[in-house]
Amino acid sequence: MKQSDLKSKSVLITGASRGIGRAVAESLAAAGARLTVTCRSSAEELQRFAASLEDRYEIPCVPLVFDVADPEACRTALSGLSSLDIVINNAGISRFGLLQELPETDLNDILATDLTGPFHILKYAVPLLLQSEAARIINISSVWGSRGAAMETAYSAAKGGLDALTRSLAKELAPSGIPVNAIACGVIDTDMNREHLSEEELEILKEEIPAGRFGTTQDVAETVLALLAAPSYLTGQIIALDGGWQV
Ligand code: NAD
Repeated sequence: MKQSDLKSKSVLITGASRGIGRAVAESLAAAGARLTVTCRSSAEELQRFAASLEDRYEIPCVPLVFDVADPEACRTALSGLSSLDIVINNAGISRFGLLQELPETDLNDILATDLTGPFHILKYAVPLLLQSEAARIINISSVWGSRGAAMETAYSAAKGGLDALTRSLAKELAPSGIPVNAIACGVIDTDMNREHLSEEELEILKEEIPAGRFGTTQDVAETVLALLAAPSYLTGQIIALDGGWQV
């Protein structure tokens, strides 16, 4: 799908009030796509962002506030869409801590947001995607999904599950010509990391990355556009975007 082919495509992007999802939404709006953007609770921020995309790019952009961890909310949100070509499962959370100290509620929140959330979004999106002639699915994963990370066992397990979901659904949907891929991000400079790590910890982390810098949300948005432009024969892949960090 060339960038020009994104014009008027109907795209759902979860977790688009800030960070990676917001940058992806901006890029797709610039390409002329019709957007539905979601977040969990920042209703005003999301509404302002959607209105600004509509103004600047003259595209429709519908803001929806719901919790992807709630299967019924996913069903309701998707049932409100008349058509859908592309799903970007981006909403996610992470918590730091030793496994034995991780509260049960945190474990459940992480799994419900980062793994079963995308599962339920896709469960209700696939029937719509099957009616599209150019359907695509991209899941935003993490390098920890395949490598694992100390202090982020639940997050790593959820993203590993998301990678497996990506590969499995790719096989299920390949006969219908729908590619399903994931982008496994390394460290991307967003609030998600700034909320967990001090400036000093971020500097130490940066030194581990061969590229010498964190990824930007723009790097992720450009990778999404590249994947959308790739042949549909490219499916079931977990593409690492990490500056050479976990190669
Ligand atoms: P962020 O915290 O800046 O933004 C997260 C977005 O997801 C927000 O819009 C938030 O409202 C939404 N969200 C969170 N929980 C939700 C829920 N239960 N229901 C609906 N929406 C919800 O995060 P980010 O850094 O932009 O990360 C986006 C994605 O990229 C996540 O899936 C994350 O795991 C993944 N990722 C990020 C990094 C990184 O370094 N930032 C690295 C690897 C993977």
